[in-house]
Amino acid sequence: MPEPPLFEVENLHVATTDGTPILSGIDLTVGAGEVHALMGPNGSGKSTLASALLASPEYVVTGGSIRFRGDDITDWSADVRGKAGLFLAFQYPQEFPGVSVMNFLRQALSARKGIDLSILELRLAVMEWMERFNMDPAFADRYLNDGFSGGEKKRNEVLQLAILEPEMAILDETDSGLDIDALRIVAGGVQEVRAARPGMGVLAITHFRRLLDYLSPDNVHILIGGKLVASGGFELAAQLDAEGFEAWR
Ligand code: ADP
Ligand code: MG
Repeated sequence: MPEPPLFEVENLHVATTDGTPILSGIDLTVGAGEVHALMGPNGSGKSTLASALLASPEYVVTGGSIRFRGDDITDWSADVRGKAGLFLAFQYPQEFPGVSVMNFLRQALSARKGIDLSILELRLAVMEWMERFNMDPAFADRYLNDGFSGGEKKRNEVLQLAILEPEMAILDETDSGLDIDALRIVAGGVQEVRAARPGMGVLAITHFRRLLDYLSPDNVHILIGGKLVASGGFELAAQLDAEGFEAWR
């Protein structure tokens, strides 16, 4: 039997909890090792898609399906999706006072894989990754989101990506007020992790054209008004540069 694709979104319809439809008929297939970028203007539904893929209770899937390695995960909770190897990086609106980056990674790893690495084992693994990412080792002992800059939040995110070893990573860079430094941290981190784990699929949701320069996605999708209006290769990004989203409206 042929392997099912890594991650498939089929004819996905998403509404708010009070029934307002937002996404209508999203089709997206990410194969192992591929990077896909989803772009769209403000209000097109990018965050809604990220939230639906994250199983956020704010939205309801009203049609279609989400499949991961052949399993229909449409009704799975965020927790179960994470354990299965889906990584949903999102911005942390809440602060985590008194939890260090290291301790947070330890808890996240325990939730993901059900294994409790010793602090020492985890520290070794984290230090190795931090070296690859050119990060200051002191960062591991910083308290989570305690005055983290955008770039520091992103460092924490790529460390999670490296340590949790997901099969499929969904990165929502939509609302995070990323500066160019933070973009480089994310893209560089993602590329390092991909080099170590070539089978990992990536869906990067962004309105930053610049992120695509760093990630060079295999596929680019354009979301407008809750619908995918175009899907293609990297050349779509160039067209987007030249013509803006107007070309598809
Ligand atoms: P993007 O992230 O692309 O800017 P969003 O997914 O945040 O777009 O929003 C898409 C559209 O859905 C917008 O018009 C927004 O106002 C609307 N929307 C999103 N969430 C809700 C909600 N909880 N209730 C009502 N409308 C919403
Ligand atoms: Mg948004």
